[in-house]
Amino acid sequence: MKENLEVKKLTNKQPTKDITLDDIKYKIPKITSKKKKTIKISEGLFFSDKTIPIISGPNGVESRELIFKVAKKVKSLGLKILRGHAYKPLTFPYRSKKYLETKNDGMDWCDEVKRHTGLKIVTEVTEIKYLDRINLTADILQIGSRNMQNLELLKECANTNKPIILKRHFGASLRDLFGAAEHILVEGNDKLILCERGISAPHTHRETSRFILDIQAITALKELTKYPIISDPSHASFWANYVPGLTYASIAAGCNGLIIEMHPKPSDSAVDPLQPLNFNQFSKVLNKSKKLAKLFQKKII
Ligand code: PEP
Ligand code: MN
Repeated sequence: MKENLEVKKLTNKQPTKDITLDDIKYKIPKITSKKKKTIKISEGLFFSDKTIPIISGPNGVESRELIFKVAKKVKSLGLKILRGHAYKPLTFPYRSKKYLETKNDGMDWCDEVKRHTGLKIVTEVTEIKYLDRINLTADILQIGSRNMQNLELLKECANTNKPIILKRHFGASLRDLFGAAEHILVEGNDKLILCERGISAPHTHRETSRFILDIQAITALKELTKYPIISDPSHASFWANYVPGLTYASIAAGCNGLIIEMHPKPSDSAVDPLQPLNFNQFSKVLNKSKKLAKLFQKKII
C-alpha cells in the first residue's frame, strides 16, 4: 500500500498536464509567447490587463428596431462594443417563425448603428462566403465555438487583419484551442482574443444549465498565454439568473473582457430567450462589475 502512494515517479515538470514543453516550443510557440499582448480596437478601447471591455447586445440582429434600441442603451451606459450578429449558427435546424438570419440587411442596419452611435461591432462569421460583407462593417470578427477548428475559415478571417474573437469549442481542450489560435497567428494576424464560453459536461443539458462556464480555464489560459481572455457567461449558462454571478466570477478569475447578452424584452428574443438580461438587470450587473473591477485595479469599458 505504502509503495503505491509513493510520489517519486511523478517527475512531470511540464507547465500543465496536457500542454508540454515540446508543444510550446514546436506546436504553439506564438500563442504561448511571453510577450504581453494588448489588443487595440480603437482610440481608448483596449482588451488589456487594465481594461475589461463588455460586449453586449441581443443574440441576433433580428430587426433594425431591435438593434437600434439596444445600441442606444449600450451607448447610454458608456460601453463601446455591440453584438451585431446577423448570421447565426443554431444547434437544431428548426427555426421559430419569427426567426430569420437577417444577413446583408442586418449588416446594413449595423452600419447605420455605427454611424449614429460610434459603437464598434462584433459579428460572427459562420461561413467564408459571408466574410466580404461582414468585413465591410464589423470591427471585430467572431469565430463561433462550433467553428473553432474550421481552419480555412480561421485563415480567411486572419487575412482580413481585423481583431478576432476565437471561442473555445465546448468540447475542446485548451491545447486544441491553442492549436486553432496558432492557425490565426501564423497568418500574421496577432489581434487575437480568446473566449471561454462554457463546456459541455455529462450533467449539463438537464435541470441546471446547458453548459458549465469553465472558470478554471480562464485562470489556466492566463497562465499559459499573454493574449486577452474573455468570458461569455450568457452562452455558458443559457440562463439569465446565472449571468450576474458568472460575470463577477469571471472578473475575479482575471478575464480581460466579457460578452453579456442584453435584450429590451428577453422573452421576445427569437433565439435563446432565457439567456439575455433585460436593461434593468444589465445595468445592475454593470454597476457591480465596475466596483469589482476596481478591486483588481481594472476598469470596465
Ligand atoms: C454567439 O456568441 O452568438 C454564439 C453563437 O456563441 P457560441 O459560438 O459560443 O455558441
Ligand atoms: Mn447564441
